[in-house]
Amino acid sequence: ADGKVVALEGLIRDVTGQMTTELALKQAKEAAEAAARMKGEFLANMSHEIRTPMNAIIGLADLILRTRLTTRQQDYLEKLQTAAWSLVGILDDILDLSKMEAGKLRMESIAFDLDEVLDSLASVLAVQVERKGLELLFARGPGVPTQLIGDPLRLSQVLTNLVGNAEKFTERGEIIVTTERIASVEQRVRLRFLVSDSGIGISAEQQARLFRSFTQADSSTTRKFGGSGLGLAISRQLVEMMNGRIWLESEPGVGSTFTFEAEFGLGEQPAEAALLPSTDLRGLKVLVVDDNPHARRILGNLLQQFSFRVEDCASAAESFAHLQACAADDPFRLVMMDYRMPEIDGISASRRIKNELKLPTPPRVILVTAASRSVNDEEDLGIVDEVLSKPVNPSLLFNTVMEVFGDGSAMRRDRRTRSSFDMARLRPVLGAHILLVEDNRINRQVASELLEQAHFRVDVAENGAEAVAMLRKRAYDCVLMDIQMPVMDGYTATARIREIEGIKQPPIIAMTANVMSEDRAMVASVGMNGHVSKPIDPKELFATLLKWIAPRQLPELPDPTAATETSALPAALPGLDLAAALGNVGGDRKFLRKLLHEFHHDHAADARRLRDALAQADLTTSRRLAHTLKGIAATLAAAALQACAGQLETQISEGRSDDLASLLQELEDSLETLMHGIAGLPPPANTLPAADSSGCDCAAVGERLDALERLLHDMDPEAAATARALSAALAFDSDESIRLRLSQLEQEVDAFDFDAALRTLEALRISLP
Ligand code: ADP
Repeated sequence: ADGKVVALEGLIRDVTGQMTTELALKQAKEAAEAAARMKGEFLANMSHEIRTPMNAIIGLADLILRTRLTTRQQDYLEKLQTAAWSLVGILDDILDLSKMEAGKLRMESIAFDLDEVLDSLASVLAVQVERKGLELLFARGPGVPTQLIGDPLRLSQVLTNLVGNAEKFTERGEIIVTTERIASVEQRVRLRFLVSDSGIGISAEQQARLFRSFTQADSSTTRKFGGSGLGLAISRQLVEMMNGRIWLESEPGVGSTFTFEAEFGLGEQPAEAALLPSTDLRGLKVLVVDDNPHARRILGNLLQQFSFRVEDCASAAESFAHLQACAADDPFRLVMMDYRMPEIDGISASRRIKNELKLPTPPRVILVTAASRSVNDEEDLGIVDEVLSKPVNPSLLFNTVMEVFGDGSAMRRDRRTRSSFDMARLRPVLGAHILLVEDNRINRQVASELLEQAHFRVDVAENGAEAVAMLRKRAYDCVLMDIQMPVMDGYTATARIREIEGIKQPPIIAMTANVMSEDRAMVASVGMNGHVSKPIDPKELFATLLKWIAPRQLPELPDPTAATETSALPAALPGLDLAAALGNVGGDRKFLRKLLHEFHHDHAADARRLRDALAQADLTTSRRLAHTLKGIAATLAAAALQACAGQLETQISEGRSDDLASLLQELEDSLETLMHGIAGLPPPANTLPAADSSGCDCAAVGERLDALERLLHDMDPEAAATARALSAALAFDSDESIRLRLSQLEQEVDAFDFDAALRTLEALRISLP
């Protein structure tokens, strides 16, 4: 029996031992899981916490960049901004990776257009690719469907990362993005994307280490090129979530090709899936002229897919001979002409073909240019039949060809063109009244100044509840809504606003950091119209506002036949007596118009400034503001404004505060009326003759610079047209830094920021040969 007891005891010990081990294991597993969860949460929290000050840094740098700076200060600040943006990029990567590790990253399944993904890829990267003198080319194999179902954001994240790397590690040559169809089964399709570059390449040994988190091919690259080494690791995981895989082939010194496959659902394809022209254009004979062999091949392939007969030439000179040789029997009917070529550029070549070769049936010519080099010169544009931006998107190419031959019936959808944001486009919505809802003080300041500088009227609310209350009182053209706020968050506020009856519902745009698919779903489900990401990118913000704000009715445009200086004023402007104002300035309409623009530029934010000064009991500033306003109002014969500014001034001087609040409100209202009217003044007519195309004629350029300087000093809105003409005249032969300055100058003039424009002009003078 003793033996039995001993055995039993042994058994019990074993079992207990095993149970203890199991328990320990279970506990360890739970602890590990908890730790992983905490790590994920910690990363998510930290990146949110870091983002808030990052928003402030980027936004404030943006505002400083809009003030008077020396060239050196500007350079430092631009570098600071670039660094800050790259830090934001790293934060996004870390957040993505932690979400993946926690299994929290969900793939979306929505219908999208592959061409749109590629287009936006091009618009994000084409400029920087071009700046390095590289070519970005898009190739497409046959039968690739464009209407897909999947996660467009994640697909474009992978592509952006691969093309971004290719750009980073390539000094000359081209980057080619190829899309191919591998297989389709029922309603699913497997696509292959290849991103090839002609860059430094990656050695076999380095290749083995890629695709893992925090690894770079060579630790010295970190120092040289920066980057976190997370891009490829994230791409790999994203591709795997799309049932695909990613790999690379590379030869050091020759280049790299990153390839990935991914699966998508098939959306509803448009009725005529193939891009085929109507019968009489099939077999059209086309000549492709481009010095880059890859570009020739890719464009040629696309055109062949449209059923065209394609031949190519590597230079303009070669094309002249070939066009003439074929002229008698089987002439070319279309020439696809590259713009940037050595020796003879695309415009000169087109001019020759159209005017000098004396071909019996001259071909149509489509100029193909890189995105960042827009052809502005009217005369040059007149030479060619159409202009297409690189990288060429197949359906846009197809539509353009059809349009050039007047075959609208075959066109598939509206032509889309792409360009960086041009402030002049904001004209139809200038003066729109925006409610900015944001709890963070610095972000509020950044956003409202940005908007005010772009001539929007801005009111602010510090949380959702305030916003709802303000919208009950008055209408706004648009609401910009932060999401995370105390008291009431942006989602709740939107839902409340949508419930208010009897008001004109404004578009509501969310401002969110790191837009995840969950966030986007939420944004839509509570009734928001769109979103912009934080930190705010002015281009994105303005483009979104332009999309959502209803354009206001412009005042009657002056009769173009009488488009002289005298017609530059409308018959009446609300809030002031135009006839009396004209009397005050000796009948000089041009001067009055200038004065009005100046007034708008300097005083649009005065009501807010006054309010702030009074809130801080800053009597000196508030009295000065009221006094200045009174004076200008008198000159402009703005009686209402003059009266209340005068009363305000008196009250402040006498230290009374009985009806400050109502006076302030009155002042704000009359200022608003005035500013709204002024913002609607017609843009100045383009009066300068088109610039000549023969490159840089230094004497003429000098003259133009002088003229522009005078106009800027006079704050004359004609400056816009002069700046554009100058830019067009110089754009060809100048180097990148000059072109950048020119476009900066144009933007500043368009935004009426004449001080900044004068500074840029100075810088331009120095850098010109
Ligand atoms: P990072 O975010 O640092 O660029 P990635 O994971 O995207 O990280 O890339 C990791 C490393 O792989 C890069 O630092 C570089 O050394 C190498 N690499 C990636 N793409 C290329 C390329 N196209 N050509 C040469 N090297 C590349």
